[in-house]
Amino acid sequence: MTTSLTSRLGRSVLLPYLLVFLVVLGTFAIGVRSVVAYFGARQSFARLEGLGRAAGGATDIGNFGHLDIGDEIDQVLEPREQGIEWLDSSGHVIARRGRVPNETQHRSMERWQRLRDASGTFDLETIPLIINGSPHGYLRISQSTAPFDRLLQWVDTSLIVGLAFAAAASFLGGRYLSFRALSPIEEGVKTLEDFSANAAHELRSPLAAIRANAEVALRADGFPVEHRLHVETIVATATAMQHLINDLLTLSSPANYEPSELEIVDLAAIVDRVISTQWLDAQRRSVCLIVKVDRPVSIRGREYQVERIVANLVENAIRYTNGGEVIVRCYAERGNALLRVQDSGIGIAPADQSHIFERFWRADHSYRPGAGSGLGLSIARFLVLRHAGSIRVESTLDVGSEFTVAFPLAHLAAG
Ligand code: ADP
Repeated sequence: MTTSLTSRLGRSVLLPYLLVFLVVLGTFAIGVRSVVAYFGARQSFARLEGLGRAAGGATDIGNFGHLDIGDEIDQVLEPREQGIEWLDSSGHVIARRGRVPNETQHRSMERWQRLRDASGTFDLETIPLIINGSPHGYLRISQSTAPFDRLLQWVDTSLIVGLAFAAAASFLGGRYLSFRALSPIEEGVKTLEDFSANAAHELRSPLAAIRANAEVALRADGFPVEHRLHVETIVATATAMQHLINDLLTLSSPANYEPSELEIVDLAAIVDRVISTQWLDAQRRSVCLIVKVDRPVSIRGREYQVERIVANLVENAIRYTNGGEVIVRCYAERGNALLRVQDSGIGIAPADQSHIFERFWRADHSYRPGAGSGLGLSIARFLVLRHAGSIRVESTLDVGSEFTVAFPLAHLAAG
């Protein structure tokens, strides 16, 4: 049990921690990539401008008005990645050096362009060609983006691998830390459970003795009538305390609710069993107990926990009804096993209906012997949820209440 408590708590701490960590790392990675892309693009255009200036400086007007292109341009040009075109004033190519994109695709005279052709993507800059202070057409400088794309790819791969390593390291580190941090809590819970079990045992025995002795005294011949009420109060209070101890134990011991220990149980048979223990109480309160059960209605659960749910609802229905009727129905409907406990009792005010499943909440806050502890419905809801079910109430003050519990039917739950 302790291992599963640690891993359950560990998971609930670790997952949000990992999520936040990944979001922070992811944001950082996106930031790094954006910065690299931004400065890479700036550098690319700076190189284009430098090359443009060099090409302008290397160009002169030769004899017969032709362009004279000096060889020094070949020393600064990287012919596999860069290219230069000399255009006349109408935009026709007069000369070219290095690698340029497909001519037919870039006739535009815009200053900055990005073009894609079969051989790749290019950044282009088109600037006027000024020689000796007068315009002589244009220079178009191009540069393949391939080296920069390779750099970006390398950055992407490094970031992804780095992220994966960081996530794995933080997962392992987080597991180790949560294990270390939760171990003392786990020990504390274990101590508390042992203490609860021991305390319950110590309390149960004297309470059982008090109750048994008081009941024997009540049945004794010649018991003084004037003391009857006092001893009945002792019996009722001891009984309520026994229930309270059982309830506290149920709520304080999560070890009892591991889903792997669920088995197939017949809800209808459990309802029958509970009803057979409630006839007497119902009679005492002049309540007519009506039972309508289809069978079998199989669900996956723990027998005594399901019995607890049914008993809490039926006990309440009888307790809060005086001289009316309580109808208990159990049947299968649309993949669900339904348990409905309807009474014609005092009902629950609309404002109170949202509170009745809270621990220790009772509509009548004053203490009366025989009154409930205020834990019955919170235990019922706790156990219903543990069985993947749902519970709801419909009630009208002074008319009555109906509690409906739905569990998944066994064959569906098992699938
Ligand atoms: P208790 O042990 O006091 O019955 P529960 O948790 O079972 O505690 O119920 C909480 C409160 O909800 C009760 O004190 C009562 O006020 C109200 N309640 C529960 N069931 C019914 C019912 N069938 N009819 C009217 N009121 C109810």
